[in-house]
Amino acid sequence: MDNLQKSFFGPRLFVIAALAVAAWALVYKTGVASTDEAGIVLALPARVGPWEGVELLFCTDRNCNRQYAANAVPDNAQCPNCGAPLSNMNWAERSMLPADTGLVRKYYSLPNGTSGVHATIVLSGDDRSSIHRPQVCMTAAGHEIVSSRLIHVPLPNRAEPLEIMVLEMTRSYRDENGNPADLNTYYAYWFVGKGRETASHLKRMFWMGYDRVVHGVSHRWAYIALSGPRNPANENHLQAIATFASQLHPALLKPE
Ligand SMILES: [Zn+2]
Repeated sequence: MDNLQKSFFGPRLFVIAALAVAAWALVYKTGVASTDEAGIVLALPARVGPWEGVELLFCTDRNCNRQYAANAVPDNAQCPNCGAPLSNMNWAERSMLPADTGLVRKYYSLPNGTSGVHATIVLSGDDRSSIHRPQVCMTAAGHEIVSSRLIHVPLPNRAEPLEIMVLEMTRSYRDENGNPADLNTYYAYWFVGKGRETASHLKRMFWMGYDRVVHGVSHRWAYIALSGPRNPANENHLQAIATFASQLHPALLKPE
C-alpha cells in the first residue's frame, strides 16, 4: 500500500473499528444492567463554608413561570401568584428532562447577601438521557459562550485536583431605558459517575461506554453545575468558583 492509500485508509480503519465496537456494544446492550448506583448524594448542604443556601421553587405554569426562595413562600406546594403547583424544576427543565431525573438546587450567598452562587445537581434517571452537553442548553437559551476553560481546583482531602469546566457567557439585552447592555455570567460544571469524575463531556461518554462494554453496567451519572454573574474585566469569578467548589465537593461524596 503506498503512502497515499495509507493516509486514506488509516483514519477510516479507525472509524470502522470504532463503529464495530459500538455495534457490538449495541447488540449486547440488552445484557447491560442499569444500576441505581450514583457516584454522589443527591442533596445539597445547607451551608458551604461561609455561604448559606436556600432552596428555590418554580411555578409549573408556563405563563407564570415565577421563581421563589422556598423560605419566602407561605405554602411550599403552591404558587402565591397563580395557585399552580410549585416544583424544584423550572418549566424548561420539566419539559426537557425525563420524569425520573433527580434534581436539587440551592441558591447560596454570603451572610451580607453578596457572592451569590446557584448550585444544581442533576442525576440521570433510567434512560440516562437526562445529561447532555450544557453548551447546547446555554446557546439555546440565548447565551453566547465567550470562552470555555478548564480549571484545576485543589481539594482539602485529595491529592488529585477537581477539574471544572467554566463557560464564560454573555447575553445582550436592552436595559430599562432601552439601551443595549450585556449580561455577563459563568456556568461551571463537572460530571460524576460511580468511581469516576470528569469535566469533559467526551470523557464521560467514553466512561459510560467503557463501563457498559467492559463491566456490563450502566451507572447513574450526575452533573454538578455552579452559575453566577462575572465581571468581564477580571477573573475573580474563577477564584469564587474554586473556593466554593472545594468546600462543596466533600459534602457530595457518598458515604462508603
Ligand atoms: Zn405561578
